[in-house]
Amino acid sequence: MSLSQVACSIPASPTVAMNEEARLLREKGEPVIHLGIGEPKNKTPITAILSSAAKLNSGDVKYAPTDGSPSLKKAIVLYTEENYNRIAVPQNIIVSDGAKQSLWNVLFAILNPQEEVIVLAPYWVSYPEMVRMVGGVPVIVTPEDGSIVPTFEEIERVVGHYTKAIIVNSPNNPSGAVYPAELISKIVDLCESKGIYMICDDIYHKLVFDGMVAEPAYKFTTKDIETSKVIVVNGVAKLYGMTGFRIGWVVANRKMVEIMTNIQSQTTTCVSPVMQAAAEGALTGVQSNVEALRLMMQNHRDVLMQELRTFTDVHCFKPQGTFYAMPDFRPYCGNGVIKNSMELSKFLLKKALVVTVPGKEFGMEGHLRLSYAGTIKEVTEGIERMKWALDPNAPSDIYIGDRKLVRDWI
Ligand code: PMP
Repeated sequence: MSLSQVACSIPASPTVAMNEEARLLREKGEPVIHLGIGEPKNKTPITAILSSAAKLNSGDVKYAPTDGSPSLKKAIVLYTEENYNRIAVPQNIIVSDGAKQSLWNVLFAILNPQEEVIVLAPYWVSYPEMVRMVGGVPVIVTPEDGSIVPTFEEIERVVGHYTKAIIVNSPNNPSGAVYPAELISKIVDLCESKGIYMICDDIYHKLVFDGMVAEPAYKFTTKDIETSKVIVVNGVAKLYGMTGFRIGWVVANRKMVEIMTNIQSQTTTCVSPVMQAAAEGALTGVQSNVEALRLMMQNHRDVLMQELRTFTDVHCFKPQGTFYAMPDFRPYCGNGVIKNSMELSKFLLKKALVVTVPGKEFGMEGHLRLSYAGTIKEVTEGIERMKWALDPNAPSDIYIGDRKLVRDWI
């Protein structure tokens, strides 16, 4: 069978693969704890439910405009004005099937073969693969050991003739770091002066803790949407915990939106009008859900940090946003028995039935990405099981489900 070399070189998304593995184990009745998934357990905002139900009840569910329904785009225009202090027009907005498709459209729209996109480690798993899928070359900038955010100098050093874009994701999946305003400001200057696109994946921009603010890139340029190199990607998945609705959007100049609309018209035609109605309902309804979710995640973060502190030799950057943390598990890998984060992750699933995602997938070998989006019980019990499996100072007996297990490997 002859298949495309590029297509064959694209691995499955490790986070999606982990979800599937956990689902299969759960189906078999195994008491799996899922610290891998980026999905809060909140209920969908009622305004989203009502407005999508109304659309369904109308019985009039047909193709929608390729770039998004006018009323949802209007809500996004208002959202952009309120949150980014920029006047947008509907022609600056395109709605897609989740921020994932939005990012893919952006990359496909801007990249010629072999052009480079700078990706800052730790990075969201899909960026390098998406860049490669559309013929580009991901250039990874890894911060010096001990840091979780690359410095401006480290970023500037890799900018070259072929650099087309820099992807910035703050608050960051997987580390939970909010990039310092000074760094964002310098990247904006660099991009504006060199004509490089700055793709801001702002999907977690309201999930910030302890009174911090994730400063939008637009704050550091006087240019308008039409002339700026800043491109904003956002969506409802994390903002309202509406992951299953698959609504994302891009704010960019008209020409780019036109090109992305053409791409979308040839690939998916449009986004389901039912899902668009839901997103519109969420964006135009009461916003207390956003704050409730933020507070819940901040509380989960605190519990996770408290639990991790009792783990011998594990250090963790305290997340400033998102629902992820990226503890450093190097003391527990590379020791001959468990060689790397992938083996560590597999070991934890096998021995303790805890799902984690290997740091290697995010450009941080020796680390694990843990999600605290689930319940508090999952967070505390998950870490307790991990300690039992790895930490010689932890008690050697544990109950997993109704089975009493005794550790006999350390
Ligand atoms: N960007 C980042 C950083 C993410 O973590 C995710 C989802 N995990 C996405 C984009 C994609 O979001 P969506 O579900 O809207 O496709």
